[in-house]
Amino acid sequence: MRYETVIGLEVHVELATKSKIFCSCSAHSFGAEPNDHVCPACCGMPGMLPVVNRRVVDYGMKAGLMLNCHINRTTTFDKKSYYYPDLPAAYQTTQWFAPVAVNGLVEIETSKGKKNVRIKQIHMEEDAGKLVHDIREDTTHVDFNRTSVPLIEIVSQPDLSSAEEVEAYLERLKMLLRYAKVAECEMAHGTMRCDVNLSVRPEGSDKLGVRTEMKNMNSVEAIKRAIEYETARHIDALENGTEVLVQETRRWDDIKGKSFAMRTKETAGDYRYFPDPNVMPVVIDDEWFESISATLPEFPEVKKARYTEELGLGEYDADQLTKSIALCECFETAYEACGSAKDAANWMISEVMSILNARKMTYDMLDINGRALGELIVLVSSGKVGRANGKKILAAMFDDNTILPEKYAEANGFIVSNDTGLIEKTVKAAIEADPKAVSDYKSGKEKAIMSIFGKCMKELRGNCDPQVLRKILIDTINNM
Ligand SMILES: [Zn+2]
Repeated sequence: MRYETVIGLEVHVELATKSKIFCSCSAHSFGAEPNDHVCPACCGMPGMLPVVNRRVVDYGMKAGLMLNCHINRTTTFDKKSYYYPDLPAAYQTTQWFAPVAVNGLVEIETSKGKKNVRIKQIHMEEDAGKLVHDIREDTTHVDFNRTSVPLIEIVSQPDLSSAEEVEAYLERLKMLLRYAKVAECEMAHGTMRCDVNLSVRPEGSDKLGVRTEMKNMNSVEAIKRAIEYETARHIDALENGTEVLVQETRRWDDIKGKSFAMRTKETAGDYRYFPDPNVMPVVIDDEWFESISATLPEFPEVKKARYTEELGLGEYDADQLTKSIALCECFETAYEACGSAKDAANWMISEVMSILNARKMTYDMLDINGRALGELIVLVSSGKVGRANGKKILAAMFDDNTILPEKYAEANGFIVSNDTGLIEKTVKAAIEADPKAVSDYKSGKEKAIMSIFGKCMKELRGNCDPQVLRKILIDTINNM
């Protein structure tokens, strides 16, 4: 019998707000001591009163709009019973009855073509703290820095059917949320986490099989491996009766390459959701809604079409540039400053992106000044600075984004000299030092002068228009 896999994802994304969801503690505790960023509210002290961080709702709304969701204009928070020491209030404040966004749609593309994945809902909630187990002392410590850091959970419908589709879906979410600048979405940093709900059924059947939920995958590769393992386990159970499938939560062990039962799956009833009387309902009026809609970025496809149709870029160039919002913004500012979309795109793709690759930086880590890049492009295209020296200036701009290219070029002797006397002198000395190349050239080996050309360029520190140098060199030899 042939089987098909049915997959739904619950993706937790940490929002990039400065402060936590219900208090003013910093949401960023990288490098901080444990429990440095805590207060009575995020520690769940009796009598504390949470206040909703408006920016969290802004970001939740933005995420919803990026994923084509309907925004609930009255959105409320609920308590989810949760008895575990990493959340000291013994409940998690989340959204159950009226999440911020519902009924969305995300289009993905795989080797099999395009497909729509329906989004059931996006809800805002607080993260839990961290437990640190100390084996030597046989104790467990708790760090509340992460408690109440704002998350959104993006719940998809079970519309995915393979590891490839899951990868495409996660990449798409990451791209859209980064375009909107609401989240980093980096699995390696824990700012994006993903639980996989999976079941298997005979191909063509419309009845869902027994579903398991897998947790603890720390990379897209691990998610793909987990999906493949779990699919095979389900099919084996159905086909050969190796085990009885039960609805449960399983932990993925990437080193062993296996999933292990953690607990039988809780149902919504087990969480005893009820409206949190401490948190006022959030009413999103027209003004607020429109102020957020107005800040949405162009979608990657819209940008790409604009780059090719309006700016005249090739398909490949437009595709490369729209890979990240940081690349788009740098390109657009550089284009504005230099006036040539083609030049700006060339510099972005052949120089900027290769420095990013060489420095093992992601495209989103780009932090150079686009205006300065535009200035640099003009310096090089007008012949004021040689291309090789232009690249050196660009590399310096990666180290210090306050550098002004022209000033930097002047200070470092990178301005092309129009002093033909100096060029002639340099050429003469180089010719005298290499009579063999000259006689080779005169006997018809045109390429023989390239070494003299190179030596002159080096001597002039690249500050010479190559056309001018070439002409002076040839003229001098011909006149000998
Ligand atoms: Zn706090």
